[in-house]
Amino acid sequence: MKLSLNFIICLVLASQFALGQQAAQEQRQSLPAAPGSRLFKAEQLLRDVETLSSAAMAGRKTGTAGGVKAREYVALRFKQSGLKFYAASPLQFFTFSEPNASAEQQGANVIGYIKGRTFPRRHIVVTAHYDHLGVRNGEIYNGADDNASGTAALFALAEYFSKHRPAHSIIFVAFDAEEGSGGGARKFVSEPPVDIRSIVLNVNLDMISRNDRNELYAAGTYHYPSLKPALEKVRASATVKLLFGHDTPDLPPAQNWTGQSDHIAFHRAKIPFIYFGVEDHKDYHKPTDDFESINRVFYVHAVETILEAVKAFDANLSALP
Ligand SMILES: [Zn+2]
Repeated sequence: MKLSLNFIICLVLASQFALGQQAAQEQRQSLPAAPGSRLFKAEQLLRDVETLSSAAMAGRKTGTAGGVKAREYVALRFKQSGLKFYAASPLQFFTFSEPNASAEQQGANVIGYIKGRTFPRRHIVVTAHYDHLGVRNGEIYNGADDNASGTAALFALAEYFSKHRPAHSIIFVAFDAEEGSGGGARKFVSEPPVDIRSIVLNVNLDMISRNDRNELYAAGTYHYPSLKPALEKVRASATVKLLFGHDTPDLPPAQNWTGQSDHIAFHRAKIPFIYFGVEDHKDYHKPTDDFESINRVFYVHAVETILEAVKAFDANLSALP
């Protein structure tokens, strides 16, 4: 009964989004073409960012109707990408309170996984927050780069690894409530679906779709230098400039990204992390962070680079302490 109901919900959601995408397709014809990718469907990647950052999602603020819509879309795309769920529902609910608000709020992470071939009991956790700032003073903050870009990349990676089974198990998590509190990541690390000691790495994606200098940062190697050689190999053939840094204590707080996104919850639990992201841009946390401003070539290349990095970690992690 549950299964068939889920199936019907999926069908209804799928048809709703198909209608929305038809309208979007007409508008998209004026945008520059995306480069193809030998690793994933680049068109689909962009369509996912467009859907997540559309007005229908109203800025995906935690606890709002737009946030719920975004979460349903993520769950649908996780399923379509071949991920398995630990329970009947992929949702992990939690409550949290924001610094200046009195009432508790409810958020929900979306969790799926692929079982590893060789080391099924060792887990890499690939994460991206799907929430954003919602509506302020009547303006929608669509958050295309922050962080529809990282969320859509989860689907591309999930589909790739469903077809090319990894050695380690990979858990994919779309976090809620990163903006403001980081409550979703804290909830996951305090109540993971697997033994916390089996989580060997967090790869966190937050803002990966635009940079005028073609630069993507991999932060975290200062704390976890053993992860650097695998990344250096990826860098040698990457189509973006993969840079290290933004992770040392000598930097001013805003430039040290160690505590700037969800990977901090893993770092605090002594789980190594690599965070992929770009420098802030003029539309950062502004209502103009829109789909149209994404650098389509850079974004596709950034996701390819991140996918190659996860492949490299999967191939090399068993050799690490
Ligand atoms: Zn973000």
